[in-house]
Amino acid sequence: MGRLIKLLLASICVAFLAVKWTSPGFDAESLRGARVLVTGASTGIGEQIAYHYARYGAQIVITARREKVLQQVSEKCLSLGAQKALYIAGDMASESDPDKVVDFALAKLGGLDYLVLNHIGSSPFSMWDGDVEHTRWLMKVNFFSYVQMAWKALDSLEQSKGSLVIVSSVLGKMPAPFVAPYTSTKFALNGFFGALQHELSMKKSNVSISICTLGLIDTDSAMEKIRGIIDAKPYPATEAALNIIITGATRQLELYYPWSTYIMNLSKDWFPSVTNYVVQSSYNYSP
Ligand code: NDP
Repeated sequence: MGRLIKLLLASICVAFLAVKWTSPGFDAESLRGARVLVTGASTGIGEQIAYHYARYGAQIVITARREKVLQQVSEKCLSLGAQKALYIAGDMASESDPDKVVDFALAKLGGLDYLVLNHIGSSPFSMWDGDVEHTRWLMKVNFFSYVQMAWKALDSLEQSKGSLVIVSSVLGKMPAPFVAPYTSTKFALNGFFGALQHELSMKKSNVSISICTLGLIDTDSAMEKIRGIIDAKPYPATEAALNIIITGATRQLELYYPWSTYIMNLSKDWFPSVTNYVVQSSYNYSP
């Protein structure tokens, strides 16, 4: 049995490396002047995504709710080399703001080459307490606004042979305790944009969709939530952000960052009981 598991793991590693080596090369120059809209860019991974695009000389629009912070991030983007760095505040729980933000980016940049959907609403890290309203609200922020913005930007992305980049989570592939509403929104994203990947491919569309599966990343919000409950090694937001950008620029269907999220995703299907045991044991919880 031990030998079989080792063989399986070795095969997965070989398959993973083969995919990596045969994936298209990244041309940083292709991002110079690229017209980009990044959501959830006032902090965390979105902020780092904005800074990387800025270093590559892109034209960027960033959005989130806090205008003052967006102003500071856009100033830093300009100092890092962005050709343009504009911001617009918007609440993705609102019916109208998702459209308003895309319209702003289209008008100011004259179209879009990349739409990076990354924002999330705040959600408790605890056992589900029956708060249906919160789940409904979170679906609006984390899912429906993504669908709305993607649709609004699709014509422009079609014209520019552009890319739609969806920042998702390993929790969109594998449920875990304490995050029932959040995990649901990420499953919804994977389902919807996975279906859209098929449809665009069947229609021979110019638009690529990249779905990014992230593991634990060291953003302030994530670290604060898990403190004292899970003791796991987080990965750096700046590296996650760079991987997200490269995945979009090379028009790959998927990103798994760190690569162990790929193994976790497989293990939940191959060894569900073992995976459940490992997941539950990683929580510091007693009833
Ligand atoms: P953060 O909590 O650090 O940042 C969330 C961003 O979304 C902020 O810019 C926030 O800005 C914005 N935001 C929050 N609520 C709203 C709202 N109602 N309307 C518009 N914008 C809003 O998140 P992370 O950087 O940690 O995560 C980024 C992405 O990465 C998410 O999609 C997340 O699911 C994914 N991910 C993260 C992991 C991690 O461990 N960090 C693991 C797996 C996936 P403001 O408050 O100004 O509105």
